[in-house]
Amino acid sequence: MVPYVPGKPISEIQREYKLERVIKLASNENPLGPSPLAIQAIKDHLHDLHRYPDPTHFELIKFLSDLWQIPVDNIALGNGSDEILDILIRICCEPGQGILQSRGAFSAYGVSAQSARAKLYEVNLLPNYQFDLDGIRDFFLKNAGSHQIRLIFLPNPNNPTGSLLPQKALESFLQDFDKLANKDDIYIVLDEAYTEFVRDPEYVSALKYFHNFKNVLVLRTFSKAYGLAGLRIGALVGPADLVNIYNRVRKPFNVNTLAQVAVKAALRDEDFIKASQLLVWNGLEYFYREFAEMGLPVIRSQGNFVMFDTKREAAKVYQALLRKGVILRPVANYGFPSHLRINVGLEEENKLALSALKEVLQQIPKTKKDMNGNGSNY
Ligand SMILES: *Cc1c(COP(=O)(O)O)cnc(C)c1O
Repeated sequence: MVPYVPGKPISEIQREYKLERVIKLASNENPLGPSPLAIQAIKDHLHDLHRYPDPTHFELIKFLSDLWQIPVDNIALGNGSDEILDILIRICCEPGQGILQSRGAFSAYGVSAQSARAKLYEVNLLPNYQFDLDGIRDFFLKNAGSHQIRLIFLPNPNNPTGSLLPQKALESFLQDFDKLANKDDIYIVLDEAYTEFVRDPEYVSALKYFHNFKNVLVLRTFSKAYGLAGLRIGALVGPADLVNIYNRVRKPFNVNTLAQVAVKAALRDEDFIKASQLLVWNGLEYFYREFAEMGLPVIRSQGNFVMFDTKREAAKVYQALLRKGVILRPVANYGFPSHLRINVGLEEENKLALSALKEVLQQIPKTKKDMNGNGSNY
């Protein structure tokens, strides 16, 4: 089994390279920290920590239900959305059944599938790094009987490419599945970890389809825009029968007390989300300008990060940057051996990271051959 490779923690690089200052732009975290309202809520509940958390997540689910206008029976919480997707795979797939995704899609689905002895099927990306929805549908229809695919994962926007599914294409995809006779045996999971950062008017959250399509599941996380990655909490929206099964399978105390109260407070902090969005959008524009100047191609991103082509062996660039105290994210495991992913940090962090990158690029020659992958060269 190939485990998930997380971004390197700051403390590890400080120890290993004896550096004081380390800039981490490797895990798409919010550089502004948690919302001040969330921090206050956490402080207010520290004295409750001798008690077990509310296993029903009652208050927070009610709050989310009002916010999203979705009944409470259709919402559940997990220890990060990665716990939810892991449990979904265990619920839906018998060993030997499988999940389907695009190449270049977020890698956690495949890791969870492997650990549940489920199969992972993948369809190639289009040359412009977009998901090939027609290809995914056709693969499913052609192999449905033999492969027993139970879940289709669509991260929207996707990490690490930052690309999104246009509304029209997504709608017709969902309609096609809605017409299937055995549609109840298959769920389409829209993982919307970066939904708050999308600017493209072509985008629509699948929360909108909740009432139209029975086999659509939506994942949300509070790790990215809400700045609460360290607390581990994410949400699932889906049909009541599946949510019910999920709640039986998950551990009763999977979401701790501080996470429950912090998210409720953070959801009220609209100013904080606005500031986070602005920071990301300005940062992305800065990255686009700088990478254009460096002559390095980027994929326009709808997340808080961007994937760029170093035109070199990216592993070498990554290592040289670590020695300078800058942590970016290699994406060779996604089939992109010449690319790296960088997330937007504070203005100063972005500047320092790019100036380190410029120095490093001078020392590492370009590869002659275009290594440019489309996610198909594993
Ligand atoms: C970061 C990320 C997640 C995981 O979020 P957690 O809630 O922290 O587990 C899920 N999906 C995608 C696409 C992500 O990039």
